Amino acid sequence: MQPFPWWTEEQIAFAKEVREFVKEVAPMDAATRWTREFPYEIYKKIGEKGFMGAAIPKEYGGLGLGATGACILAEEMHTVMPGIGRIVVGNMNGGVRQIVEAGTEEQKRKYLPAIASGEIGAVVITEMTAGTDAAGLTLTAKKEGSNYILNGKKRFIVAAGVAERYFVYARTSDDPVDFKKRKHVTAFLLKKGTPGFTCEKLNEILAFENVQNGSLDFQDVVIPESDRVGEEGEGWKIMMAGLNFERTVIASGTIGWQRLLLNNAVPYSQRRVQFGKATSDIPANQDKIADLVIRLKISRIAVYYTAWLWDREEDVSIEASAIKAYGAEITLESAKQATQIMGGDGVNRFYPVQNIYEVAKTEHVAGGTVEACRMVIFRNCLKMMKEDIQMPRRVIDEKLGVPVPAVGSVANKLAVSEENLLAVLAEDYRINPGLHMTLEDIKEYVDTDDVALEKAIVGLEGKGDVMVLRNKKGIQLVKATYDGLNKANPKEYYRWFPTWATEDRIF
Ligand SMILES: Cc1cc2nc3c(=O)[nH]c(=O)nc-3n(C[C@H](O)[C@H](O)[C@H](O)COP(=O)(O)OP(=O)(O)OC[C@H]3O[C@@H](n4cnc5c(N)ncnc54)[C@H](O)[C@@H]3O)c2cc1C
Repeated sequence: MQPFPWWTEEQIAFAKEVREFVKEVAPMDAATRWTREFPYEIYKKIGEKGFMGAAIPKEYGGLGLGATGACILAEEMHTVMPGIGRIVVGNMNGGVRQIVEAGTEEQKRKYLPAIASGEIGAVVITEMTAGTDAAGLTLTAKKEGSNYILNGKKRFIVAAGVAERYFVYARTSDDPVDFKKRKHVTAFLLKKGTPGFTCEKLNEILAFENVQNGSLDFQDVVIPESDRVGEEGEGWKIMMAGLNFERTVIASGTIGWQRLLLNNAVPYSQRRVQFGKATSDIPANQDKIADLVIRLKISRIAVYYTAWLWDREEDVSIEASAIKAYGAEITLESAKQATQIMGGDGVNRFYPVQNIYEVAKTEHVAGGTVEACRMVIFRNCLKMMKEDIQMPRRVIDEKLGVPVPAVGSVANKLAVSEENLLAVLAEDYRINPGLHMTLEDIKEYVDTDDVALEKAIVGLEGKGDVMVLRNKKGIQLVKATYDGLNKANPKEYYRWFPTWATEDRIF
């Protein structure tokens, strides 16, 4: 597909090079899906090309193409069967971003050139009882002299067994205060072959025919302090940043899959004849094809916009989770439609469309579930989009007697007193009868600090004039009670009827 205007010449050339390479290795990828082999040969070639260094700075043996380069690689790699793309993504998540951001100079020199030249890596978070609740991990890392001793198990790890390098998160503190502050997790780099470190099981995952996914066992595994990434207790922060990168690259992979759907369903329908015409001439199929294009075009813009933000070092916590959840969901929807366009052949393993249908579902879980993504988005939007998500201030229009948008801020704020506070709450009843007010809402009308405001609220509460909702930080929401409304104004003040309401309909 066409490059975006902000891509550099190097990024454009990279996309072209990967696209050509993918055509060359696609037969091998497809074949290994049938034979259930891990496609080492493809991986070796990827290493020789240096593609895995897309997001690694040039001084560490990478291509220096940033997050945009990583997304280009993931997109192009996913335009064939799902296998190789998934391994490339898994490997990029196996420490690249984490080492670039949190590694020591020595770790960068030791690990990044190896990653760039194709060493397979894995990211190791999930456990028996720590899935979405990743903070609940129990794999322990106990400090002994200048080493850490790891004990426990991990599961669902992409490339488990075939990976040479494992980016492992372990618990280094049982202190409840550390847990609350998410300072109980530490990140480590671990090599295959370390005594006590074994692959326990390989899973049979939907659409992972030629991709390994499995469980790992750690028994008294010794990791030198020099392979700890970041400080002790910084693992959670590193994990979150790593997941943002992982989600961005996964989302980019879903673009490749959507292209694969289009490349199968459309030409298929142009060649399939029913009722004496190509099935692409049937409006029901044309609608579906248009839907595939709409989703592909929109999600591709969103992915590369997020990559551009990454490359400007902006916080993409919302965008990364948004494009990951959106990418997985729309790809499943598009796969459903592409499958339908192709009828029986859509669900026949001799065409790749059914495989995208399956892998899109798997992608609802891998890299953090779509629900987990939404949790991240919700949590962050309240902080990061505070300025964008504001309760619009409204006032009662004097002539109409209905709420209308207010212009600007309140010119003359009231002094803080119980009487003024009750007047504000009573007026708010006319505007938002079903809602409480926040302290910030009240401060738009009352000139006060928190202490004086809370004193007035508690005073009114004692008289039964306001109802108060408290959270652990204190007063959260306030609203005038029936008594409070009656004290603030005569009943007539609150009455309003539309002009069409005749006398017989009101009393
Ligand atoms: C194909 C595949 C590849 C994977 N690769 C890796 C890997 O390389 N490395 C790794 O460490 N892990 C990997 N994982 C694990 C993956 O990250 C977890 O499966 C995922 O985080 C969900 O955990 P869980 O499966 O234990 O589900 P659970 O956490 O048990 O969740 C079950 C359901 O409950 C929902 N749920 C749970 N908590 C909440 C909540 N608070 N609010 C709303 N909904 C909630 C979930 O969204 C889900 O729908 C992979 C998983 C798969 C399937």
